[in-house]
Amino acid sequence: MRALVLERKGELRLRDIDLPQDPGPDDVRIKVHTVGICGSDVHYYTHGAIGDYVVRAPMVLGHEGSGIIEAVGQNVQGLAVGDRVCMEPGIPDLSSRASKLGIYNVDPAVSFWATPPVHGILTSHVIHPAAFTYKLPRSVSFAEGAMVEPFAVGMHAAARARITPGDVAVVIGAGTIGIMVALAALAGGCSRVIISDISDAKLKIAAQYDGIIPVNPKTDDLVSAVNRETGNWGADVAFEASGAPQVFETIFKTVRPGGAVVLVGLPPKAVELDVNAAIAREVRIETVFRYANVFDRALALIASGRVNLKPLITRSYGFDQSIEAFKRAAEGRPADIKLQILMTPEVT
Ligand code: ZN
Repeated sequence: MRALVLERKGELRLRDIDLPQDPGPDDVRIKVHTVGICGSDVHYYTHGAIGDYVVRAPMVLGHEGSGIIEAVGQNVQGLAVGDRVCMEPGIPDLSSRASKLGIYNVDPAVSFWATPPVHGILTSHVIHPAAFTYKLPRSVSFAEGAMVEPFAVGMHAAARARITPGDVAVVIGAGTIGIMVALAALAGGCSRVIISDISDAKLKIAAQYDGIIPVNPKTDDLVSAVNRETGNWGADVAFEASGAPQVFETIFKTVRPGGAVVLVGLPPKAVELDVNAAIAREVRIETVFRYANVFDRALALIASGRVNLKPLITRSYGFDQSIEAFKRAAEGRPADIKLQILMTPEVT
């Protein structure tokens, strides 16, 4: 099977690789159609590691995918050959304590695509449990299907925030995940989302959505902007989606008394928190690690037309151009939100 293989840090190759072909009784085999390039794929390419996960052997990249079912295992119900699907990339141990609690995303035994040593899906076919494979509604394209994975992070963050209808939210960071969080917060009932980023190009993309108010902290102090928008009361919830260490010094000052702060972005090192500001407001702090139990809800929102992710797909590349696509992703152009790779362009 041809695959995009990260041989080692900085070295990508399109080559043949041996991967499993036969679905087990509870699995499906999927012909991969579209794969989004994630910040994590790029980070493994440029740095060879994310935290404790180190690339020690050649690894196929990619975990944001959609495709077509080609074969189903004997126990599989509800999915059939020819179905258009998207895939949830983390496979937990279904008998683990975390899975039984419903928090399978934090199962220490979870096996997640393109996280060393697990291969990803930038390859022609993949075997996957049917339980983590979701049929695309007719109105959802393969490109949108491959956006469900990053949108799921936003969905999970919005769920953790416990939004009440009419809430005002702040989202710090207008990268792919920041915008996903903002859209999920709006879909979850927020009346307005103030989004901040130091890139005007990113803010412009975010602000094309109704209800999103852009703030650039280079020219406008975020705490003052939030106070202005909320009559000096503060936002009901602030989402941290930038990972920038300095954000943690002031984030609690953006929320109202009794509000919530939801931490999504991963800072590159340990950060300092203004605990006094948090305690003075009795802020509820939540953290988000990937997602659990949201893929079907994300798909339902996209299918309903209430969430439109299409404007966030900047460009798609053919599989043959996937190394070029990764080089561009590694440049980190400010106006690039999502780059995708089309594995099966003949099917639409
Ligand atoms: Zn991703």
